[in-house]
Amino acid sequence: MSPASSASAADWPEACRRSVEGVRQMLRDHPATADRAVETGRGEGGDQALVIDRAAEEIIFAELDRLHAEGRRFVALSEERGEVDYGDPGTRVVIDPIDGSMNAKRGLRPHALSFAVATGATMDDVCFGYVYDFGAGEEWMAWRDGGAFLDGQRLTGAPDERRVPDGRLELVAIESAHPDWVAAAAEGLQEVAHRLRAIGSIALSMCQVACTRVDGMATLWRCRSVDAAASQLIVRESGGLVAFSAYDEPLAAPLDLEPHSPVLAARSEHGLAQLRRIPVR
Ligand SMILES: [Mg+2]
Repeated sequence: MSPASSASAADWPEACRRSVEGVRQMLRDHPATADRAVETGRGEGGDQALVIDRAAEEIIFAELDRLHAEGRRFVALSEERGEVDYGDPGTRVVIDPIDGSMNAKRGLRPHALSFAVATGATMDDVCFGYVYDFGAGEEWMAWRDGGAFLDGQRLTGAPDERRVPDGRLELVAIESAHPDWVAAAAEGLQEVAHRLRAIGSIALSMCQVACTRVDGMATLWRCRSVDAAASQLIVRESGGLVAFSAYDEPLAAPLDLEPHSPVLAARSEHGLAQLRRIPVR
């Protein structure tokens, strides 16, 4: 699917942009940590859902309801509500209403809406990816075989990865930065990376690889599809490489709510091979 090959595809970005406006206003209405930190019980993805996670999801589902009323058919998979049937299991819409909820709760800037559309059951089937960074105000988007875009500018000719003289990648983003998982991965990270960054959003860390702001990205535990479905397409359409490392086929991770596999993103086969050396418990 690309903007040209599917006339009806054009309303996915519009639904995303309307959702972004709604979520931005909702966050303005919940300005302080005390407003944002109210817990509402565990979502279907297993994490504690904050009031802002639930409110963001409601805003996005209002857009999905509108698309359904206009005749669009799909199944939605979202971090808090789980799977919602809108009439066609052949099209999966995979949503993290807020990726980086901890940052949003605490007033740290990087947090994102992640929205992907797929024509099948795995990462390889994702045909549209959209990530909006509420901190930087950046819009990342990709169409399968149609390129990746940052704020409407096509991402072409991303710089090569940077290395220090001993061959390590200059800057590697890590996610799932639980101290126990960092400790378990520490030796591998020492071998692979000159410096680390932990942004706090899998979607946003991956997007940074799409224009080589970092030289690679690795989660230190298994990620859920809602976190990575959109950004993995953005990286690949920028010319980068992605691997869900628990699988022999790098894009075989299923689009469901289980945490199946760590995800790695790099600019080259050599960089990806280096990231594979990071041990994950
Ligand atoms: Mg979330």
